[in-house]
Amino acid sequence: MYNNKLPLIDLHRHLDGNIRPKTIWQLAQKNNIQLPETSFEDFLPHIKITNNEADLLAFLKKLDWGVKVLSSLDDVVRIGFENVEDAYQAKINYAELRFSPYYIAMTHNLPIEGVVEAIVEGVNLGRKKYPTQINLIGILSRTFGVENCHAELNALLTQKNNLVALDLAGDEYNYPGHLFESHFKKARDAGLQVTVHAGEAAGPESVWHAIEKLGATRIGHGVASARDQKLMDFMLKNEIGIESCLTSNYQTGTVKDLSKHPIKTFIDNGLNVCLNTDDPAVENIELEDEFNLACTLLKLNEQQISQLQHNAINMSFLSVNEKQKLTQLKSNDQN
Ligand SMILES: [Zn+2]
Repeated sequence: MYNNKLPLIDLHRHLDGNIRPKTIWQLAQKNNIQLPETSFEDFLPHIKITNNEADLLAFLKKLDWGVKVLSSLDDVVRIGFENVEDAYQAKINYAELRFSPYYIAMTHNLPIEGVVEAIVEGVNLGRKKYPTQINLIGILSRTFGVENCHAELNALLTQKNNLVALDLAGDEYNYPGHLFESHFKKARDAGLQVTVHAGEAAGPESVWHAIEKLGATRIGHGVASARDQKLMDFMLKNEIGIESCLTSNYQTGTVKDLSKHPIKTFIDNGLNVCLNTDDPAVENIELEDEFNLACTLLKLNEQQISQLQHNAINMSFLSVNEKQKLTQLKSNDQN
Protein backbone atom coordinates (compact mmCIF):
# COMPACT_ATOMS: atom_id res chain seq x y z
CA MET A 1 0.00 0.00 0.00
CA TYR A 2 1.12 3.52 -0.72
CA ASN A 3 1.00 6.36 1.80
CA ASN A 4 -2.25 8.19 1.01
CA LYS A 5 -1.09 11.28 2.89
CA LEU A 6 1.43 11.81 0.10
CA PRO A 7 0.63 12.42 -3.58
CA LEU A 8 0.54 9.43 -5.93
CA ILE A 9 2.90 10.12 -8.83
CA ASP A 10 3.79 8.23 -12.00
CA LEU A 11 6.85 9.64 -13.76
CA HIS A 12 7.43 6.79 -16.19
CA ARG A 13 4.20 6.06 -18.01
CA HIS A 14 4.01 5.55 -21.79
CA LEU A 15 0.91 7.10 -23.29
CA ASP A 16 1.28 4.87 -26.36
CA GLY A 17 1.86 1.85 -24.09
CA ASN A 18 -1.39 2.56 -22.34
CA ILE A 19 -4.07 2.37 -25.00
CA ARG A 20 -7.18 0.67 -23.64
CA PRO A 21 -7.85 -2.81 -25.06
CA LYS A 22 -11.49 -1.80 -25.70
CA THR A 23 -10.33 1.29 -27.58
CA ILE A 24 -7.97 -0.80 -29.74
CA TRP A 25 -10.86 -3.14 -30.51
CA GLN A 26 -13.30 -0.32 -31.32
CA LEU A 27 -10.85 1.61 -33.48
CA ALA A 28 -10.00 -1.54 -35.43
CA GLN A 29 -13.73 -1.97 -36.25
CA LYS A 30 -14.19 1.70 -37.08
CA ASN A 31 -11.08 1.85 -39.28
CA ASN A 32 -11.58 -1.55 -40.96
CA ILE A 33 -8.33 -2.92 -39.63
CA GLN A 34 -7.99 -6.68 -39.69
CA LEU A 35 -7.10 -8.14 -36.29
CA PRO A 36 -5.67 -11.64 -35.81
CA GLU A 37 -8.76 -12.81 -33.84
CA THR A 38 -12.50 -12.47 -34.30
CA SER A 39 -13.43 -12.18 -30.61
CA PHE A 40 -12.26 -9.57 -28.11
CA GLU A 41 -11.34 -12.19 -25.50
CA ASP A 42 -9.15 -14.11 -27.97
CA PHE A 43 -7.51 -10.87 -29.02
CA LEU A 44 -6.47 -9.84 -25.48
CA PRO A 45 -3.35 -12.07 -25.29
CA HIS A 46 -2.02 -10.26 -28.38
CA ILE A 47 -1.95 -6.94 -26.51
CA LYS A 48 -1.45 -7.95 -22.89
CA ILE A 49 1.43 -9.74 -21.23
CA THR A 50 0.12 -12.93 -19.70
CA ASN A 51 3.26 -13.96 -17.83
CA ASN A 52 6.71 -12.81 -18.88
CA GLU A 53 8.18 -12.43 -22.33
CA ALA A 54 11.54 -13.71 -23.60
CA ASP A 55 13.14 -10.26 -23.71
CA LEU A 56 12.58 -6.54 -24.20
CA LEU A 57 11.89 -6.86 -27.94
CA ALA A 58 9.22 -9.54 -27.43
CA PHE A 59 7.63 -7.29 -24.80
CA LEU A 60 7.68 -4.27 -27.11
CA LYS A 61 5.88 -6.24 -29.85
CA LYS A 62 2.78 -6.39 -27.65
CA LEU A 63 2.53 -2.62 -27.80
CA ASP A 64 2.24 -2.55 -31.56
CA TRP A 65 -1.51 -3.18 -32.01
CA GLY A 66 -2.26 -0.10 -29.94
CA VAL A 67 -0.69 2.20 -32.50
CA LYS A 68 -1.56 0.12 -35.59
CA VAL A 69 -5.26 0.99 -35.22
CA LEU A 70 -4.69 4.77 -35.08
CA SER A 71 -5.56 5.81 -38.61
CA SER A 72 -6.45 9.48 -38.07
CA LEU A 73 -5.41 12.37 -35.86
CA ASP A 74 -8.83 12.21 -34.16
CA ASP A 75 -7.93 8.70 -32.98
CA VAL A 76 -4.71 10.14 -31.54
CA VAL A 77 -6.65 12.89 -29.72
CA ARG A 78 -8.85 10.16 -28.23
CA ILE A 79 -5.94 8.18 -26.74
CA GLY A 80 -4.45 11.40 -25.35
CA PHE A 81 -7.71 12.18 -23.56
CA GLU A 82 -8.23 8.60 -22.33
CA ASN A 83 -4.73 8.52 -20.86
CA VAL A 84 -5.58 11.46 -18.60
CA GLU A 85 -8.87 9.81 -17.67
CA ASP A 86 -7.03 6.55 -16.83
CA ALA A 87 -4.49 8.37 -14.65
CA TYR A 88 -7.34 10.10 -12.80
CA GLN A 89 -9.19 6.83 -12.30
CA ALA A 90 -5.99 5.27 -10.97
CA LYS A 91 -5.99 8.03 -8.29
CA ILE A 92 -2.79 9.49 -9.66
CA ASN A 93 -2.24 13.12 -8.65
CA TYR A 94 0.58 13.88 -11.04
CA ALA A 95 1.82 12.01 -14.11
CA GLU A 96 4.46 12.61 -16.73
CA LEU A 97 3.12 10.92 -19.85
CA ARG A 98 5.62 10.06 -22.55
CA PHE A 99 4.99 9.25 -26.17
CA SER A 100 6.85 8.58 -29.42
CA PRO A 101 5.18 10.49 -32.27
CA TYR A 102 6.99 8.52 -34.98
CA TYR A 103 5.83 5.22 -33.49
CA ILE A 104 2.24 6.51 -33.37
CA ALA A 105 2.43 7.94 -36.90
CA MET A 106 4.24 5.25 -38.83
CA THR A 107 1.59 2.61 -39.66
CA HIS A 108 -0.79 5.00 -41.39
CA ASN A 109 1.75 7.63 -42.42
CA LEU A 110 0.16 10.29 -40.24
CA PRO A 111 2.00 13.63 -40.21
CA ILE A 112 4.40 13.46 -37.24
CA GLU A 113 3.94 17.12 -36.27
CA GLY A 114 0.17 16.56 -36.44
CA VAL A 115 0.51 13.62 -34.05
CA VAL A 116 2.38 15.75 -31.51
CA GLU A 117 -0.33 18.41 -31.78
CA ALA A 118 -3.10 15.80 -31.45
CA ILE A 119 -1.55 14.36 -28.28
CA VAL A 120 -1.32 17.84 -26.77
CA GLU A 121 -4.95 18.50 -27.77
CA GLY A 122 -6.20 15.22 -26.27
CA VAL A 123 -4.29 15.73 -23.05
CA ASN A 124 -5.60 19.30 -22.79
CA LEU A 125 -9.17 17.98 -23.09
CA GLY A 126 -8.38 15.59 -20.24
CA ARG A 127 -6.84 18.35 -18.14
CA LYS A 128 -10.04 20.38 -18.49
CA LYS A 129 -12.16 17.53 -17.19
CA TYR A 130 -9.94 16.00 -14.48
CA PRO A 131 -7.83 17.46 -11.68
CA THR A 132 -4.87 15.12 -12.30
CA GLN A 133 -1.82 17.21 -13.12
CA ILE A 134 -0.07 16.14 -16.32
CA ASN A 135 3.16 16.93 -18.11
CA LEU A 136 4.37 15.48 -21.39
CA ILE A 137 7.71 13.92 -22.34
CA GLY A 138 8.67 13.34 -25.97
CA ILE A 139 10.33 10.08 -26.91
CA LEU A 140 12.85 9.27 -29.60
CA SER A 141 12.31 5.63 -30.63
CA ARG A 142 15.89 4.48 -31.18
CA THR A 143 14.67 1.25 -32.85
CA PHE A 144 13.78 3.16 -36.03
CA GLY A 145 17.27 4.57 -36.47
CA VAL A 146 19.18 7.82 -36.30
CA GLU A 147 17.52 9.59 -39.24
CA ASN A 148 13.95 8.90 -38.17
CA CYS A 149 14.88 10.14 -34.72
CA HIS A 150 15.98 13.45 -36.24
CA ALA A 151 12.56 13.79 -37.88
CA GLU A 152 10.90 12.76 -34.63
CA LEU A 153 12.87 15.32 -32.64
CA ASN A 154 12.03 18.11 -35.09
CA ALA A 155 8.35 17.26 -34.81
CA LEU A 156 8.53 17.28 -31.01
CA LEU A 157 10.32 20.62 -30.98
CA THR A 158 7.41 22.26 -32.82
CA GLN A 159 5.54 21.82 -29.50
CA LYS A 160 8.50 22.26 -27.16
CA ASN A 161 6.55 24.57 -24.86
CA ASN A 162 4.11 21.74 -24.24
CA LEU A 163 6.87 19.28 -23.29
CA VAL A 164 9.07 19.10 -20.21
CA ALA A 165 11.69 16.60 -21.39
CA LEU A 166 13.06 14.28 -24.03
CA ASP A 167 13.53 10.52 -23.61
CA LEU A 168 15.25 7.77 -25.59
CA ALA A 169 13.39 4.44 -25.67
CA GLY A 170 13.25 1.18 -27.65
CA ASP A 171 16.03 -1.24 -28.58
CA GLU A 172 18.85 -0.17 -26.25
CA TYR A 173 21.06 -3.13 -27.12
CA ASN A 174 21.25 -2.66 -30.90
CA TYR A 175 20.95 1.16 -30.93
CA PRO A 176 23.33 2.44 -28.22
CA GLY A 177 23.16 5.98 -26.89
CA HIS A 178 26.26 7.28 -28.69
CA LEU A 179 24.24 7.37 -31.95
CA PHE A 180 21.96 10.02 -30.47
CA GLU A 181 24.31 12.57 -28.90
CA SER A 182 23.52 15.32 -31.41
CA HIS A 183 19.77 14.81 -30.91
CA PHE A 184 20.05 15.35 -27.19
CA LYS A 185 22.32 18.35 -27.51
CA LYS A 186 19.70 19.97 -29.72
CA ALA A 187 16.93 19.14 -27.23
CA ARG A 188 18.90 20.50 -24.27
CA ASP A 189 19.66 23.68 -26.23
CA ALA A 190 15.91 24.01 -26.80
CA GLY A 191 15.37 23.95 -23.02
CA LEU A 192 14.17 20.37 -22.54
CA GLN A 193 15.26 18.21 -19.63
CA VAL A 194 16.47 14.67 -20.24
CA THR A 195 15.50 11.19 -19.07
CA VAL A 196 16.84 8.10 -20.86
CA HIS A 197 15.90 4.41 -20.85
CA ALA A 198 19.23 2.85 -19.89
CA GLY A 199 20.60 -0.15 -18.04
CA GLU A 200 17.53 -2.17 -19.00
CA ALA A 201 18.73 -4.33 -21.94
CA ALA A 202 22.35 -3.08 -21.78
CA GLY A 203 24.87 -2.75 -18.94
CA PRO A 204 26.04 0.06 -16.62
CA GLU A 205 28.09 1.64 -19.44
CA SER A 206 24.79 2.62 -21.07
CA VAL A 207 23.74 4.47 -17.89
CA TRP A 208 27.12 6.23 -17.65
CA HIS A 209 26.75 7.35 -21.26
CA ALA A 210 23.19 8.60 -20.77
CA ILE A 211 24.32 10.78 -17.86
CA GLU A 212 27.65 11.99 -19.18
CA LYS A 213 26.94 12.37 -22.89
CA LEU A 214 23.18 12.74 -23.28
CA GLY A 215 22.70 14.92 -20.20
CA ALA A 216 20.19 12.67 -18.44
CA THR A 217 19.23 13.70 -14.92
CA ARG A 218 16.90 10.71 -14.72
CA ILE A 219 17.30 7.15 -15.87
CA GLY A 220 14.42 4.88 -16.91
CA HIS A 221 14.81 1.47 -15.24
CA GLY A 222 18.59 1.69 -14.66
CA VAL A 223 18.54 -1.91 -13.42
CA ALA A 224 22.19 -2.51 -14.38
CA SER A 225 23.34 0.41 -12.19
CA ALA A 226 23.13 -1.90 -9.17
CA ARG A 227 26.14 -3.82 -10.54
CA ASP A 228 28.38 -0.73 -10.47
CA GLN A 229 29.03 0.82 -7.06
CA LYS A 230 31.01 3.71 -8.58
CA LEU A 231 28.03 4.54 -10.76
CA MET A 232 25.62 4.48 -7.81
CA ASP A 233 27.99 6.74 -5.84
CA PHE A 234 28.09 9.10 -8.81
CA MET A 235 24.30 9.07 -9.12
CA LEU A 236 23.90 9.83 -5.43
CA LYS A 237 26.36 12.71 -5.54
CA ASN A 238 24.83 14.22 -8.68
CA GLU A 239 21.21 13.55 -7.72
CA ILE A 240 20.45 11.42 -10.77
CA GLY A 241 17.02 9.83 -10.35
CA ILE A 242 16.02 6.26 -11.18
CA GLU A 243 12.52 5.53 -12.48
CA SER A 244 11.89 1.93 -11.38
CA CYS A 245 9.14 -0.19 -12.94
CA LEU A 246 8.86 -3.54 -11.14
CA THR A 247 6.35 -5.52 -13.19
CA SER A 248 7.77 -4.26 -16.47
CA ASN A 249 11.28 -5.41 -15.48
CA TYR A 250 9.93 -8.86 -14.74
CA GLN A 251 7.84 -9.05 -17.90
CA THR A 252 10.72 -8.00 -20.16
CA GLY A 253 12.97 -10.61 -18.54
CA THR A 254 15.32 -7.89 -17.24
CA VAL A 255 14.82 -9.06 -13.63
CA LYS A 256 14.26 -12.83 -13.34
CA ASP A 257 13.34 -12.92 -9.65
CA LEU A 258 11.20 -9.94 -8.73
CA SER A 259 11.80 -10.40 -5.00
CA LYS A 260 15.46 -9.54 -5.71
CA HIS A 261 14.70 -6.37 -7.70
CA PRO A 262 17.57 -3.84 -7.36
CA ILE A 263 15.20 -1.12 -6.12
CA LYS A 264 16.20 -2.30 -2.64
CA THR A 265 19.88 -1.73 -3.44
CA PHE A 266 19.03 1.73 -4.78
CA ILE A 267 17.13 2.61 -1.60
CA ASP A 268 19.97 1.26 0.59
CA ASN A 269 22.38 3.48 -1.33
CA GLY A 270 20.20 6.52 -0.66
CA LEU A 271 19.45 7.07 -4.35
CA ASN A 272 16.61 9.16 -5.67
CA VAL A 273 14.44 6.28 -6.87
CA CYS A 274 10.67 6.12 -7.40
CA LEU A 275 8.04 3.60 -8.44
CA ASN A 276 6.27 3.75 -11.82
CA THR A 277 4.11 1.70 -14.19
CA ASP A 278 5.78 1.91 -17.67
CA ASP A 279 3.00 0.49 -19.94
CA PRO A 280 0.05 -0.14 -17.60
CA ALA A 281 -2.52 -1.39 -20.16
CA VAL A 282 -0.09 -3.84 -21.76
CA GLU A 283 1.20 -5.03 -18.38
CA ASN A 284 -2.33 -5.25 -16.98
CA ILE A 285 -1.38 -3.33 -13.82
CA GLU A 286 -1.81 0.09 -12.26
CA LEU A 287 0.47 2.11 -10.01
CA GLU A 288 -1.27 0.93 -6.86
CA ASP A 289 -0.41 -2.68 -7.80
CA GLU A 290 3.26 -1.76 -8.00
CA PHE A 291 3.16 -0.30 -4.49
CA ASN A 292 1.43 -3.46 -3.27
CA LEU A 293 4.17 -5.56 -4.87
CA ALA A 294 6.84 -3.41 -3.23
CA CYS A 295 5.22 -4.07 0.18
CA THR A 296 4.36 -7.73 -0.14
CA LEU A 297 6.99 -9.27 -2.39
CA LEU A 298 9.91 -6.90 -1.87
CA LYS A 299 9.03 -6.32 1.79
CA LEU A 300 9.67 -2.58 1.75
CA ASN A 301 8.56 -0.97 5.01
CA GLU A 302 6.26 2.05 5.42
CA GLN A 303 9.13 4.45 5.75
CA GLN A 304 10.71 3.17 2.51
CA ILE A 305 7.38 3.43 0.67
CA SER A 306 6.96 7.03 1.82
CA GLN A 307 10.53 7.72 0.75
CA LEU A 308 9.73 6.48 -2.77
CA GLN A 309 6.77 8.87 -2.91
CA HIS A 310 8.89 11.80 -1.67
CA ASN A 311 11.56 10.93 -4.21
CA ALA A 312 8.98 11.07 -7.01
CA ILE A 313 8.20 14.69 -6.09
CA ASN A 314 11.91 15.57 -6.00
CA MET A 315 12.64 13.81 -9.29
CA SER A 316 9.70 15.26 -11.20
CA PHE A 317 10.30 17.76 -14.00
CA LEU A 318 8.32 20.40 -12.10
CA SER A 319 9.55 23.79 -10.90
CA VAL A 320 10.46 24.24 -7.23
CA ASN A 321 7.19 26.10 -6.76
CA GLU A 322 5.11 23.36 -8.39
CA LYS A 323 6.87 20.71 -6.30
CA GLN A 324 5.93 22.58 -3.14
CA LYS A 325 2.31 22.79 -4.23
CA LEU A 326 2.26 19.09 -5.03
CA THR A 327 3.76 18.24 -1.63
CA GLN A 328 1.00 20.21 0.08
CA LEU A 329 -1.78 18.72 -2.03
CA LYS A 330 -2.67 15.92 0.35
CA SER A 331 -2.25 17.90 3.55
CA ASN A 332 -4.74 20.41 2.14
CA ASP A 333 -7.11 17.52 1.39
CA GLN A 334 -7.42 16.74 5.07
CA ASN A 335 -8.08 20.24 6.29
ZN1 LIG B 1 9.61 2.82 -20.50
